[in-house]
Parts: sequence; C-alpha cells; structure tokens
Amino acid sequence: MKEQDLKILPFPRKVRLDGGFVQMRPYVKTPKGRIGSFIPEEGDREVKFLQNSALPPEGYRLTIYGKGVEISASAYAGFLYGAIVLDMLVKQFGTYLPCLYIEDEPMAAHRGTQVCYAQINVKYREKWLKKHIVDLAKLRVNYLYLYLEWDYAFPSLPPLSGKEMMTPEDAREIVAFAKGYNIKIVPACNVLGHTSDFLAVQYLNDCKENMDGETNAKVSTARALCPNNPRANAIVFRALDDLIDAFQPEIIHIGGDEVEHIGGDKYCRAEAERLGRTGVLLSYFVKIRDYLQSRGVITGIWGDKLLSLSEENRYDGEKCEEKYLPKNLELLDDLRHGTIVYDWWYTGGSEKSIRFFSEKKFNVISAASVHGCMTSIPSFDQQLNIRALFIDALDYGVKGGLVCDWINGMGYHAEQAYFNFAAGAAMLWSGTDKDSFIVNCSREKFEKDSLFVRYGTTDTALIDYFHEAGDIYGKLLSLFPPDRKGVSIRKSVFYTDNPLMVYIKNITDLDGKLGEYEKSVRRISVLYKKAEKSCKDDGYFYALKVAAVAHGYILRAVSVMDKFYGYYDAAAKVQYTDGERFGEYLDLCARTLETLKGAYVPPIRFAAWMHENLGLEESSVYRLKGARKNLSKLIRFILRLKGNYRPLPAIARISDSLFGTDRDVWWKMRDYEWIEEEGEFKKYDVELGFYYERLDWSHIKEMEKNL
Ligand SMILES: [Zn+2]
Repeated sequence: MKEQDLKILPFPRKVRLDGGFVQMRPYVKTPKGRIGSFIPEEGDREVKFLQNSALPPEGYRLTIYGKGVEISASAYAGFLYGAIVLDMLVKQFGTYLPCLYIEDEPMAAHRGTQVCYAQINVKYREKWLKKHIVDLAKLRVNYLYLYLEWDYAFPSLPPLSGKEMMTPEDAREIVAFAKGYNIKIVPACNVLGHTSDFLAVQYLNDCKENMDGETNAKVSTARALCPNNPRANAIVFRALDDLIDAFQPEIIHIGGDEVEHIGGDKYCRAEAERLGRTGVLLSYFVKIRDYLQSRGVITGIWGDKLLSLSEENRYDGEKCEEKYLPKNLELLDDLRHGTIVYDWWYTGGSEKSIRFFSEKKFNVISAASVHGCMTSIPSFDQQLNIRALFIDALDYGVKGGLVCDWINGMGYHAEQAYFNFAAGAAMLWSGTDKDSFIVNCSREKFEKDSLFVRYGTTDTALIDYFHEAGDIYGKLLSLFPPDRKGVSIRKSVFYTDNPLMVYIKNITDLDGKLGEYEKSVRRISVLYKKAEKSCKDDGYFYALKVAAVAHGYILRAVSVMDKFYGYYDAAAKVQYTDGERFGEYLDLCARTLETLKGAYVPPIRFAAWMHENLGLEESSVYRLKGARKNLSKLIRFILRLKGNYRPLPAIARISDSLFGTDRDVWWKMRDYEWIEEEGEFKKYDVELGFYYERLDWSHIKEMEKNL
C-alpha cells in the first residue's frame, strides 16, 4: 500500500505510512462537541486527544500505532478534523487500521460554500440543511453562506417572502448545530440590487430606485432598492438587526452585485452629481459598514461594481468618470476597513481583479460557482473553472475562497452539486497550482475518493453517470449546440405547461440524431440504476436522477411528437384531396399523442419529491401536470380539426396559439380562425397587442436651432 491509496478527502498535506496494521476499534469516552458523530463511544482502544498549542488553529496530527490512536491539535477544530479523518480511515479499513502519521493544516483560512434560498424561492428544509452541513464538515468547509436575499421570515417586516421561509428560531438552531462542525453561518441579504422578488410587492413600491424619472415611480419595475430613500433605509437596517439577532454572525454578506439602477431618483440625484453613480454605491456601503461595525459584524460585498474604479474592468467594462475618481478612491479606501470583498468569477481565473483588490488592501475572498444553475446537471468541467480561480487566489495569498450555488429550481438543487463543492473545498484545504489538480491529489484520485467518502463505494457508475450526462464535450451534450447544452434542457422539461414546447425546443438539435440520442439516454439511465445500487443512499440520492429523468422525458416526448408530426404532415397534404385518409391520419395523430401520457409520470414524481424534500419550487409539478392536461387538449383539438374547414395550422402556430400567449406585435397570425373556434379553443389574446414607440425629438430641436 502507498500513501496515495488512502481515501482521505481533502488529502492531508503530509502522510507517512509506518508499515503494518493494527487491529482495533477506536472509541471516545466523553466526546466533545460533534466528535461523537465520527468516533463511536464504544470500542477497545480509547483515542487520546492531546492539546498542543503550537499547532496551527485548524491543523491536527493523527498517529495510529501499536498502542492506539492519538490526535493532537491546538483547538476544537483540529480535534474535530482529526476525528473526521480517522472516521474516513475506519470506513476504508474497518478494524484493521494502517500504522501511520498525518500532519495536516489548511492552505486557506476561509473555506466557504453557499446555498441559495432566494431566486425562485426555495422553502426551508431543516433536515436537508443539517445533513448538508455534515457533508461540508467532512470536506472541512468552515463557512456556510445562506443566500437569503429577502427570503427569510424577518420578524420586523411583514411576511413579504411567503410561507415556509427560514425563521429566527431555525437560524438559531442551525447556527448552534453548525458550530459543532466548525462551520460559521453567514447570512446573505442583498440590500441594493437583485431585489426584484422583494420589490415586486406594492408595500415596497416606493422603495425602488427610480431611474431619472424614466418611468413614473407608480409603475416602475426597477430591480434595486434606493440607497438614500429613508423608508428603504429603515427597512434595510431593521432587516440587518433581525439577522444579527438570530444569527449572531461574524459576517453579513450584503450583496451589492449587478446593480442596474442606482443614483437616479430624487433621493440620490444630488449625491450622484457630487460623487458619480459608483460614489452613491460606495457611500451607501460605507454607511452600512459603519452600522455593522458598530454591532461587531464584518460587511461582505461582491466586488463587481467596485471594479469600475480599476484600470481595466473585466466585469462589465464600465469605468468611473475621471472627475469622480479621486473622491471614489477615497471612499473605497475607507470602505476596506471592516469589509470583505468577494471577487466573483464563475468561468475562470481573476488575476486582474484580484490584483486590484489586493493592491487596495482589501480582505479578499475569491468566489467561484458550482454553476449548477447554468447546466443541465452539475458539470465536472466546472471544477476546472473553480481551479483556475483558486490558483489565482492562492497565488495572491488572499483570505480564502467561496464556492457558490445559485438559482435552485427547475429540477436543480445544491444537493446535486456535491462533487463541485468538494473539489473547491479540497483545493482550498490542500492547495492547487498549475501542476496539480489539487496538491497531492490527481483528478482521478479526487473523483474516486470523493465518491467513496460521500457514497461509500468504489464502483464508479455514479462518476461515469455525471461525466456522461454533464461533460460539455461528451457524447450526450455534443448533440446540442453551446447555447442549448445547459439549463435549457431542464427548462424544456420543467418550465412549461405547453406540451409542444419540448418538441419545438429540441427537434432542431435532435432531428436525424434521435438514434444516437437514444443510445446516450439509455447509457445514463443504466449508469444511474447501477449507481443507485452501489451507492449508499443518505436519503437524497434520488435528487441526482435529474439528468436521467429530464433526458428520458425529452427522448420519449420528441420521438412520439416526431411520429405525430409525420402523420399530421401527411394529413395536411391530403386535406383537400382525400377526405377519408385525412380523417384517418388525424386519428393516427391522436392515438400517437395518447401514448405520451405516461411520459409525464417520472418528471412529475421527481419534481414533487424535490419540493417535498429539498424545498424546490412546486410550480414545476404544476407545469408538468398542466402540460399533461394540455396534451389532452391538443388531442381534442386535433380530432376537432377533422371536421373543420380551416387548413391545418402549422405545428409552431398551434404551440403559440393554443398554449402560449401570443406575442405578435401588430396582429395575431390568422386571427380570424382562432376567433371562430369554440369553447376552450377560442383564442383572441395577444400579449403585446400594441406597443409604444419611443419618440426622440432631440434632432428636431437641433434642426430648429439651426433655422
Ligand atoms: Zn435613489
């Protein structure tokens, strides 16, 4: 056996095998904190915990030798991590443990991950979050960010976020629970931009940033809070107080990314004149930072909007106007005290921005993403993007890293992204550089070890399943063009009640390739079933089925609808020449579509399970049930066309007219035929029935001047 054969994740900085094995069942008599979750209280050799204040804060030394097991550390975190690693060894070797010595400590002090509750409003499920915390602790993650935005039961505000949101009691419970696993909870509430859900209620209509009177404030659809509106400020400060009371946090992340509307209304205009728009943002953050600092809390801010002060803004190219730059740089220098800036890049490294923030002496955390929301199933390819970012982070010696999860919904949830969280966590613990995937851990080793640590198996079916379904250049996704490899696959299943949409969205890519697609879909289905048997189910394994469910449904629906298309087209060709065959073809169409009804069962079951167990949006269930109902409507309509005078409408028109809301600008295509239909088939609504053209008279004024 070699050191590399040990299935420890993240792999320790130093391991020495001392040769030989000892038969023993280590135990701990009175376990501190959560150590008892990793070492049993019964056995034949008591684990010795040795205090050694010379060791680094989260470091530990683990010795297994003839007499037993010793774990040395300077603090609780190190003892906990020693116990976790011992547990991994017991899982691999049972009662016959290898004699060894491990010396380990983290490369980065701050190792964070984020779960997203806002953006499609994920209901709070305590059981899952606790399980997730244990998973993260094993990866030695020490900060868990909860992206709440405003989806939290703020006691000082009306119940604006709806039911089943995390409450202050939940927060206290989870903070205490996580503490035992050396994880600090960071609540994240976006106090500026990204507040569209929050601001979509009339109660807050006057709190929006209304840009330059562009729209009357009464009907504004702005998606940001005004930073200077006294009522908006009061609400933000009440919310921050609520978070402090419940979470007692070290950090509150206040967002501040992608702010599209700022500095344009009556409350902000004077300040914007004086400081520019970035200045309005900075002075708001300074105001909040001052308050949080007075309450002993660090302020977390996304970095992107601050990059307008850098020489080169990789984020959106926006640059601060020269005349505002000196004042803004002063504000930026003030802001860095008591603040952490999160330099986020989800598809690669960040040398330029990280250099900018480091030069400005900020505490920086590099934020990557599992990218689950953008993909059809979390792709292992994303681990390379995370790596590129963390190589830069570790090169610049920043405080640490964060791996974010965003937009859980339409079949996707953070639970599916374990391997990408694990890769990021291992990179932050062990380090990563240009020569290694993770220091002391090749990509292959990482995959096998993470599989063993999480699912207790050496059978690679699950890893193969993820590769087959998620590799951007794999056989399956190669069938789809770049803009349709990702979330659009899940959307065509979970995001519509229009039964034709799955065909319309996928036939362009799959026409003539259905045989090839079928082979890939079969393979992922077989791999999933194999993985289901070999992997230990912690109660959430079924969530990983998303790719098999989605592609299984798409395959069946597109194949059946393509057959239907053939009959429908044949019917159209003989409509005015052979009435009998016309009717027969339409009957065939209806019978063909009938066979599709069963195809809705697996995705409906999946979506319902995801809602119940992970709190994922319930609308997917309703949409799929709606699609099934609308399939019956489609069948009735096809049969009705038998006796109809009208030429068969093109399939794409049926989709829009029967199930969608038409979006034609001037008129609804063949409007007269839909108006003359009866009952449920009568359609007359057109969403953009007329539009307002913006009239720009400035050039007229110019011409007038010159007259
Ligand atoms: Zn304003």
